[in-house]
Amino acid sequence: MKYIGAHVSASGGVDKAPANAAQIGANAFAIFTKNQRQWVAKPLEAQTIAAFKANCRQLGFVPEAILPHDSYLINLGAPEEDKLVKSREAFIDEMARCKQLGLPLLNFHPGSHLKKISEDACLSLIAESINLAHQAVPEVVAVIENTAGQGTNLGWSFEQLATIIAQVEDKTRVGVCIDTCHAFAAGYDLRTHSAAETTFAEFDQTVGFQYLRGMHLNDSKTPFGSRVDRHHALGEGEIGLPCFEVIMQDARFDGIPLILETIKPEKWADEIRLLRQFEVTASSAINA
Ligand SMILES: [Zn+2]
Ligand SMILES: [Zn+2]
Repeated sequence: MKYIGAHVSASGGVDKAPANAAQIGANAFAIFTKNQRQWVAKPLEAQTIAAFKANCRQLGFVPEAILPHDSYLINLGAPEEDKLVKSREAFIDEMARCKQLGLPLLNFHPGSHLKKISEDACLSLIAESINLAHQAVPEVVAVIENTAGQGTNLGWSFEQLATIIAQVEDKTRVGVCIDTCHAFAAGYDLRTHSAAETTFAEFDQTVGFQYLRGMHLNDSKTPFGSRVDRHHALGEGEIGLPCFEVIMQDARFDGIPLILETIKPEKWADEIRLLRQFEVTASSAINA
């Protein structure tokens, strides 16, 4: 069973998000549980939490198909103490919000070294941040997203993701979300059926599919290995469609949220339909 959706708007409250996802024919979705460009948000109200849960139930969204995304401001590998403390507090608040909403996953960008500390030191800080969040909030799984490697963002290589995981104490509560655009921009080829197979085999060897808890399905505006993160609509960018056919036909991507963050929300319903077609029919591209 494939859970497919998009990162939908939660404006007016998180309880409004399930209807936005249902409208595009999704059975999964991603959301920000607070304004992603602000450090502090007011706590979720009991009424909003109840409405969110009721709407999910009514529209058929199961908690494991929902992938909340944390704020862009948070840097769990921040070299400066004050920024690190602020980030860890904000991350714990994000985790607590997920727990309140009955959601088992929280997707986040690992962190940046800002050229002030070594890569290894930054990866260790990120792992320590995850350990602290685990101690503060029960149950929620910290889902590390691979990055495009823009600037000093870490987590662009599968080795870096594995290095973080190795230092997390509770391995049952750490996972990975692979963003196809980010992987491609970071130098993992996905342009053909066999290229995608090779990249996923490399992921399995280095990190392991047992850690895969979500995917961001995006085409890329920027070329292979550019280290620049610019999403595109499926089939309109540098990656093309074969990679998404591979994903839709591979059972290792079953049961986890597959989330579009593509740039044309008006096309999301069509993109979901296209992915559903790939699920049932092997196209010529896949055999090429
Ligand atoms: Zn993403
Ligand atoms: Zn991105």
